[in-house]
Amino acid sequence: MMADGYLRLMEDVLRDLSHLDEYVPGRGVDEVAREHDLDPDEMVKLASNENPLGPPPAAMEELRENVEEASVYPTALHADVKEEVAKYADAPVENTVLGAGADGVFDTVCRACIEDGDDILCPEPGFSYYRMAAENVGGAANSYPIPKEDGFRYSADAVVNSYSGEKIVYLTSPNNPTGSVLSLDEIQQVADEVDGLVFVDEAYWEFSSRDSAVDLVDRGDIAVARTFSKAWGLAGMRFGYAVVPDELAEAYRKVVTPFSVGTLTLYAADAALQDTDHVEETLELVEWGREYLTEELDAHVYPSEANFVLIDVSPRTAEEVAKELERRGVIVRDTTSFGLPECIRVNVGTRDDTKRAVKEINDVCG
Ligand code: PMP
Repeated sequence: MMADGYLRLMEDVLRDLSHLDEYVPGRGVDEVAREHDLDPDEMVKLASNENPLGPPPAAMEELRENVEEASVYPTALHADVKEEVAKYADAPVENTVLGAGADGVFDTVCRACIEDGDDILCPEPGFSYYRMAAENVGGAANSYPIPKEDGFRYSADAVVNSYSGEKIVYLTSPNNPTGSVLSLDEIQQVADEVDGLVFVDEAYWEFSSRDSAVDLVDRGDIAVARTFSKAWGLAGMRFGYAVVPDELAEAYRKVVTPFSVGTLTLYAADAALQDTDHVEETLELVEWGREYLTEELDAHVYPSEANFVLIDVSPRTAEEVAKELERRGVIVRDTTSFGLPECIRVNVGTRDDTKRAVKEINDVCG
C-alpha cells in the first residue's frame, strides 16, 4: 500500500528534478570530528567564510533580552529594521528589501523574474546558488569565465562577450571563491551593454576597498544584494537584503513569503548595526589574516578582497589536501565543486587559528 502510494506521489506530484543538484556546503566541525574521532573543541573551521569573532556582543544581548518574542510574527519590527538597513546602505527604504540571507533574496528575485525557458548568466567559478535559485523556478544558467590562466582577473568584457539575452546577470564583487573584484566602471559597462537586470552580489563588500554599486541602482537596471552572514557575524540567523529598482521592489513585495525574516533575526540584525566596534574589529582581523596567509603560505595564494583566499595546492589535489587537513583538525574548503580541483579556499580565522592553519597547510603541501 505504502509503496504504491509513494510511487504515485513520485509520478504524479513531484516535478522532474533529475537535472538538479543539491547545494554542497563547507563541512561542519561536528561532522568532521566524528569522522576522524577528534575533539570538536580542538578543531579549526575555515571553510564557510564565517566571522571568526562570532556574533556581535550587542546582538547576543538583544537575542537574550527578546527571546520571548519568538512566539510573535514580526510586523512593525520588519519595517523598523528595514529602515535601519536602508540607512546603513545609504539607499531609499522603498528600494530596500529583506530576505532570509542573500540566498532568500536571490530566491525571491528569481520568483519575480524567471519562468520556464528563461536564463541567467553567472560567474564561473562562482557561487552555486544563483544557478539553483533560477532552476528552482524553471530557469537555467549560463556562465562567463573568470579565468585561472589570467590569475582569476574579473573583466566586464568577459561578461559581455558571454551574454546571450539572459534575464539576470550576476556580478559577484568580491567573487567567491576567487576573491577578485569588478570596478564600478566595469559594472556600469556591463549594465550598458546587456539587456537584463545586473544583480551585483556584495556579500563580501565590507572586506574590500571598492565603492559599493548601491549608488548605481537608480539607473533602473542594477540591483545590489548584501548579507549579515560575513562581516556582521550572523550567518546562523539568515539575514540578507538588497537594494533594487522601483519596479523590482514592487514585484518583490508581491512574491515574497509572508514574514520571510524571523523576529529574533530582526532583533539581532538591528543590534548588530549599532555594534560598529565588532564590525571594525572584524575588518581589521581580516586585513591582517589575508596578508598573513599570502605571506606565510608556501603555496600560491591569489589576491583577494574578501575574508578568504584561494590557494593553489598543485601538484597535490584539493581533495587530498583537504582530507589530510581534516585529520589534523583543520577544515578548509576543497573547491573541486567550483571546478577547481587543484585549489582550496581558506577564510581568515582568529589569529591563533589562522596561524595553525598556515602551519598545517605548509606541512601537508610539503
Ligand atoms: N553570495 C555569496 C557570493 C556567497 O559566498 C554566499 C555564502 N557563502 C552568499 C551569497 C549567501 O549568503 P547568505 O548567508 O546571506 O545567504
